[in-house]
Amino acid sequence: MNDRSWLEINLDNYVHNLESIKKFVLPHQDIMQIVKADAYGHGAAKIAEIALKNGVTMLGVANAEEGALLRYLGKIPSYTYTKDNLTLDACPILVLSPSLPNEIDLIFENNLIPSITELDFCQNLDNEAKNRDVVYPVHIKIDTGMNRNGIRYDAFDNFLMAFSKCTNLKIEGVFSHFLESEEQSGVSETQIDRFREVLTKIKTVKYIHIANSAGILFQNFKEANIVRLGFLSYGVNINKRVEKTINLKPVMTFKSKISHISTAKKGETIGYNSTFIVNEDVRFAIIPVGYADGYDFLLSNQAKVLVNNELCPVLGRVSMDMICIDISKLQKVSLYDEVILLGEEHPEINAGNIAFLYKGSAYELLAQVGRRAKRYYKINNMIIDQEPIQKRSFIPSDFNSEKLSSIIKNAIAHRIQNNEMAKVIYDDILKYFFIDSDKDISYRSNFKHNIVFTEHKEYKDYYRVKTVLSFQKILHNDTFYVACAIDNESLKEFFKMKNCEYRWIIDVPENHLNRSNDKKNDLNDYFKISKALINDIEVDISIKNYPQIQGMQKGLLFTMNHKKLVDLCGKVVTFVIETETIYHKKAHQLSVYINEITKGAEVSFSFPSQINPVEITSIFAGRERFPLIQRRDNQIILKTRPDMWIFPNSGIVFSY
Ligand SMILES: *Cc1c(COP(=O)(O)O)cnc(C)c1O
Repeated sequence: MNDRSWLEINLDNYVHNLESIKKFVLPHQDIMQIVKADAYGHGAAKIAEIALKNGVTMLGVANAEEGALLRYLGKIPSYTYTKDNLTLDACPILVLSPSLPNEIDLIFENNLIPSITELDFCQNLDNEAKNRDVVYPVHIKIDTGMNRNGIRYDAFDNFLMAFSKCTNLKIEGVFSHFLESEEQSGVSETQIDRFREVLTKIKTVKYIHIANSAGILFQNFKEANIVRLGFLSYGVNINKRVEKTINLKPVMTFKSKISHISTAKKGETIGYNSTFIVNEDVRFAIIPVGYADGYDFLLSNQAKVLVNNELCPVLGRVSMDMICIDISKLQKVSLYDEVILLGEEHPEINAGNIAFLYKGSAYELLAQVGRRAKRYYKINNMIIDQEPIQKRSFIPSDFNSEKLSSIIKNAIAHRIQNNEMAKVIYDDILKYFFIDSDKDISYRSNFKHNIVFTEHKEYKDYYRVKTVLSFQKILHNDTFYVACAIDNESLKEFFKMKNCEYRWIIDVPENHLNRSNDKKNDLNDYFKISKALINDIEVDISIKNYPQIQGMQKGLLFTMNHKKLVDLCGKVVTFVIETETIYHKKAHQLSVYINEITKGAEVSFSFPSQINPVEITSIFAGRERFPLIQRRDNQIILKTRPDMWIFPNSGIVFSY
């Protein structure tokens, strides 16, 4: 290892613990794995992944931000809550602590289930659920005697009455929490009685839970159908009673290495404030781990660490960044030898025993240790994954798009060592692709554009044009547009428009624009949509004039929608758009632009025989710049491989 200190997370031990605990879980009960505080310092994303593979069906976090991070880093698939039901295709995440009103958006955005402990929060949540037009699930926390958070068991009736006004919330769970489940004191029984009474007041509820780890072992409440498993799964024993009941293996090992070796003479002292006086000459080693790494200050002159299978006492005070250990007794020791500060290798260094030394809590120790340490995940004694420290705190919402943009820009500049070029690459290429919105980046595939010119009977100076465009793409919106521009300026406007799937530029008959605008849809005489389909759905088309400049029509905008499209949003659909229009004979060239990322294109142009020869020039941004061109009698077809990527700003010009 190249690290100053690191954590090894033994996932086999985690699975062993989980399997041992399952023997105490009743057959009708599910398991919620608690992964709060980054899974008690073990890495929430990885523990969640392994837990879900091993039969866990729900995850518990402390707050909404932890939940958001877990969804993001752990890629925990999300429920979708809708008006009338929720789709059970993923893993629910319960937020255990009370949430604050400002966390409500995060809760909705990440489909987290909040715990309700407070009516005011509940009403805020209900308002937002109404705004979003969903019925949102909540778990009601009942305080049955711990006096921490929750609706008091003896105030539940009042709460329920007030809750009935929160019509967009649904009680999906009711739970309580033991205050000393590891003890045989009768307190848990009282809590259970109170909880049971509350339950009689609720009709049906999907989840009932009360047991934490020790509760699973000692007070498993039969009416509950899910348990909340925390510290036991991480292999921590908190007392003799637990130790006698179940065999567990510590999951976390905290390691470092010797960074310095020296000696101190009899009568000298070691470390700050002379708390250790040297009785006989000692050889000591410095370990680069201190209380800032989570190695508690109270372990000063108390703890032992393991070096080459020998326990070595900590000498003097724990400093912020290092500790001193006695290596006098070691036969063999050298600089950079591995040091184990906490873990399974020796009972004296398991979390429970270390915490006992300073009357601390093993939970606290696990959650704080290794703050500066990278995590390595092991299966079968092999490292299968690692997690740098930065990753633990990365929340995408921390990065507003401005910040993200500047990071990307700087990264490019750093890479090519040229600020000016970086700006060009960023502004003119990347930003262009994302069209100032990095959300709905999508691409078209199987792009086919067929253009047919024939003689026009009415306007001799024009060709009659029929176009058929088809492609596949994710439907982002239940409405999309087709636009017809009359000049480059309006075309530019249409290019900027989101969900505009097709644009045409028309050169209208001379006197048209000079006419006053009394015939509203004049332009529509020259540009018509003959058909527009999404899959097999014929969409409804309405026309808007757009934009009007000094009373003159500068283009046409067609709005296309259909009520069935809502259900297709987010899915890949096939667009078909057919138009009829005109094209000026004197133009002598016809351009087809490809302005979205496109995978595979075929563009064909058919024309009356008298305009032969037609030349074709293609400008392709992308790896492959010379697609196949086929010529038939009165037709040119340009075809790329179906898997070829074409980037925006590509196009084809036919000249005649
Ligand atoms: C932390 C927590 C748990 C898990 O407790 P353990 O004792 O670690 O099993 C269960 N329920 C709630 C509400 C918690 O906050």
